[in-house]
Amino acid sequence: MITDLLLTEEIQDSSVDEMATRYRVSHEPDLWKHRPALLERVSGVRALLVRNMTAVDRELVEAATGLEVVGRIGVGLDNLDLGALAERGVVVCYPPEENAVSVAEHVFALLLSFARHIPAADRGVREGRWDRGSFIGFELAGKTITILGLGRIGYRVAVRARAFGMRVLAYDPYLVAQHSFVTESGAHLVSLDEGLREADVVSCHLPLTRDTRGLLNAERLAWMKPHALLINTSRGPVVDETALQAALEAEQLGGAALDVFEKEPPGHNPLFSLPRVLLTPHIASWTHEALHRVISTVAADVDRVLSGQPARNFANFPTPRRA
Ligand code: NAD
Repeated sequence: MITDLLLTEEIQDSSVDEMATRYRVSHEPDLWKHRPALLERVSGVRALLVRNMTAVDRELVEAATGLEVVGRIGVGLDNLDLGALAERGVVVCYPPEENAVSVAEHVFALLLSFARHIPAADRGVREGRWDRGSFIGFELAGKTITILGLGRIGYRVAVRARAFGMRVLAYDPYLVAQHSFVTESGAHLVSLDEGLREADVVSCHLPLTRDTRGLLNAERLAWMKPHALLINTSRGPVVDETALQAALEAEQLGGAALDVFEKEPPGHNPLFSLPRVLLTPHIASWTHEALHRVISTVAADVDRVLSGQPARNFANFPTPRRA
């Protein structure tokens, strides 16, 4: 079967249905799990649409001899070998901020759930207990939140945190104090050391890079206050999970709320048995609104590239570069 556009994960939207009226589209939602089949199927396809589970590495890029464009449904390009794609002249499209609001809102879903013991309180009522004394929470107003990575998502978290009356610090050495994300959010730029030491809440919004992998290790987690909450909705490997587990067990840290894990799905993980830990399965951006915006933005760009026009939101270059 000749395929123009191959979808290797669960990706459904009216924009993809519309493309199927003009291109040969194949949706194989489990293909990312079957590496040999994946390598075979990519040969000859012009476009790939992937989320974060498909490893678009050098081997795959070399197998995809007719590839012109990869559409990454989501933010965070760490599952793509950008170097190999650039060498082959393949355009990489992604939606720069289509899911930023959803992720920022999820941070507050986690933060308020933690502050007010919502999961345990809900369970208690269902189980017939009327235990109010165990569920005395804390207010966000007046607390300090430190945002690691004041980018598109971090900025939106900062704005929402200010609306709750929080003091907002941010660690982002790539931003100057005049950047609109700083001035419009009212965040104060600080060092990592100061940000971790001062915070009641730390919310991580860093991309996964060589510099950020394992950034929150035992030494840095120890800088945090013993009541502080760490929220990670960025990428799992930014936090050393073993060090986090040890810090929580030693009560050096007040709690953790994680949407992302070192390994996904995480399988058995010692963090699951700890109290003061809130977990969600990488769903920070999974709202109806964001899912539609993300897919339709990327599909529109893939369509542009396939029809010879430049992409609007690209990570490398707007049109394929064939030797
Ligand atoms: P962004 O690129 O707009 O912002 C990232 C910020 O981090 C930038 O301001 C950059 O200057 C800063 N930064 C980069 N390296 C740094 C370092 N070493 N130290 C400190 N700051 C550094 O990205 P974004 O759209 O805000 O997304 C942030 C991350 O969130 C993504 O990379 C992705 O991994 C993750 N994400 C997760 C979900 C989810 O569903 N959980 C959804 C979307 C994005």
